Amino acid sequence: MAYWNESVECMSREDMKALQSERLVKQVKYVYENVPYYKDLMDKKGVSPSDIKDVDDLSKLPFLSKADLRDAYPYGMLARPLSDCVRIQSTSGTTGRRVVAFYTQNDIDMWENCCARAIVAAGGTNEDVCQVCYGYGLFTGGPGLNGGSHKVGCLTLPMSSGNTKRQIQFMMDLKSTILCCTPSYAAYLGETLYDMGYTTNDIHLKAGIFGAEPWTEEMRRSIEKSLGIKAYDIYGLTETSGPGVAFECCEQNGMHINEDNFIPEIIDPETGEVLPEGTEGELVFTSITKEAFPLLRYRTRDLCVLTRGKCSCGRTLIKMCKPKGRSDDMMIIRGVNVFPSQIETVLIEKGYTPNYQIFVDRVNNVDTLDINCEVPEGVSDYEIPEKEHSLAKSIKHMLGITPKVHLVPAKTITRSEGKAVRVIDRRKLID
Ligand code: ADP
Ligand code: ZN
Repeated sequence: MAYWNESVECMSREDMKALQSERLVKQVKYVYENVPYYKDLMDKKGVSPSDIKDVDDLSKLPFLSKADLRDAYPYGMLARPLSDCVRIQSTSGTTGRRVVAFYTQNDIDMWENCCARAIVAAGGTNEDVCQVCYGYGLFTGGPGLNGGSHKVGCLTLPMSSGNTKRQIQFMMDLKSTILCCTPSYAAYLGETLYDMGYTTNDIHLKAGIFGAEPWTEEMRRSIEKSLGIKAYDIYGLTETSGPGVAFECCEQNGMHINEDNFIPEIIDPETGEVLPEGTEGELVFTSITKEAFPLLRYRTRDLCVLTRGKCSCGRTLIKMCKPKGRSDDMMIIRGVNVFPSQIETVLIEKGYTPNYQIFVDRVNNVDTLDINCEVPEGVSDYEIPEKEHSLAKSIKHMLGITPKVHLVPAKTITRSEGKAVRVIDRRKLID
């Protein structure tokens, strides 16, 4: 079994706790002394750095939320002078005003090492050709995986996203073995490969490292088949550095969190109470090694479950499940909680492509749910009403509410090159 940093990735629980405690105590003091915004929050809560003696005291600290970061924009969370910083990245702005994050050179190294762990866990070595088609620029996907790929010594193809036919051409000509992009873009690349008249026999990919958006197990299997690879999940967010906060190993069953840098907690999103391992709730991260932008107890709004069990890969790092979406991705339709991922599961299971759009509206005070997806190959026009009906029934079975399903002609739903936009909630536009 190969690791990027075996001593940490396979560290005993006791040693990890001691390492986390030591780093946390230092970090809290550092933040208190250097980030007036967080000092104020601690003062208001009546907590001082001396109250934090080990990781078990973590829950005494105040939370930070995206609203705080927007409040403190742009420099309010900086713990270092700008002259010590070497990079700025920014969120994709999926849910509102962008947040900017700052990095010292040590922060960049830590982040890239986390990505290197992910690449090695997916089987990457310096023999590999790693094609990075996450967006480059302010978005963290491209720069993060690019840096990790360099550290591992892979031959790195900094493609960025888009220009999909050229991606396939380079993939073939330069014999890429590892692909890094969003899962929705991976699905699009798989589709384009066949549209260009090729098959998996024409490419050399063995693994994909996909993240930055929620995706289902069904989507994983579909991508694995269309590209002839093993597909690994990777998770992260700009506020904590970027991708690489957590990564999947050969078990492909949840992502190991780089606990030496990020302490995870799961809380009840309503009350803020810390929930026991194994319970679903909102994921919160405390970064204990970051210098420029060291967020403590940052609420991600991602809903997931943490589990600590024995993993066959030998890593002892705690695992997070695939986040099923952010708490703000959840739609409440006629009083029922609905996640796009539930709809994706049914679509792919029923043989539809992973291209779909969900429209939510309110007509005469009643919520409506419409789903557009594409007619599968070989289905003739007269079969469409029956197919729509049957799909609506399966979705009703999953969600408890009946959608209106519309089968639209193949390849008419816009493909995603980055983070896919699945939901158009017209109710929000009115509010
Ligand atoms: P934005 O918040 O504007 O989208 P980021 O680009 O920093 O900015 O995105 C981070 C978010 O992307 C995470 O909080 C999470 O919701 C989502 N995300 C990242 N990786 C994954 C993944 N592997 N599975 C599901 N969601 C993910
Ligand atoms: Zn593992």
